[in-house]
Amino acid sequence: DPRLQGISDAITVVPHFPQPGIMFQDITTLLLDHKAFKDTIDIFVERYRDMEISAVAGVEARGFMFGPPIALAIGAKFVPLRKPGKLPAKVIYEAYELEYGNDCLQMHVGAVEPGERVLVIDDLVATGGTLSAAIRLLERAGAEVVECGCVIGVPEFKGRCRLNGKPLYVLVEPR
Ligand code: 5GP
Repeated sequence: DPRLQGISDAITVVPHFPQPGIMFQDITTLLLDHKAFKDTIDIFVERYRDMEISAVAGVEARGFMFGPPIALAIGAKFVPLRKPGKLPAKVIYEAYELEYGNDCLQMHVGAVEPGERVLVIDDLVATGGTLSAAIRLLERAGAEVVECGCVIGVPEFKGRCRLNGKPLYVLVEPR
């Protein structure tokens, strides 16, 4: 797809953020580039619009930037998967391990219906730990995770690798 090069070019690498040695993939410059941002959303929409997906679940925080425009365009609702203490009503949660320490994703009870077909969106997949937790959380609520979609994926995930038995779709590799 000729649009992918422009998307990759719009992502900026910030060395040594948030810690020394980390080459942070900054997608805020992609959001500043109207064509690259629109192309990103369009590619996901073209892929998912005829897959009978009724909910898009976005992972805090950058999944909140790509998930809602995809959801609106494919006729789905948007479900935020948030870090602990942010959602006000009753939640279910799923803990997961990070390189250093632990984290947790929470979702409101009732946000998805049993059997509902859900797409999970985040900006970047590295180890896959975050998306695996998102899949487990949604499946515990009875949803059917159709696929996980990410803008950036480390090379191991480029192509259509699987995560917790679910397909993973990635647009570009880290810069
Ligand atoms: P994983 O759980 O796959 O190891 O890490 C993915 C999560 O970490 C995603 O939620 C993603 O937003 C965040 N993340 C880790 N490194 C980066 C990075 O370099 N750039 C961006 N934009 N997000 C990152």
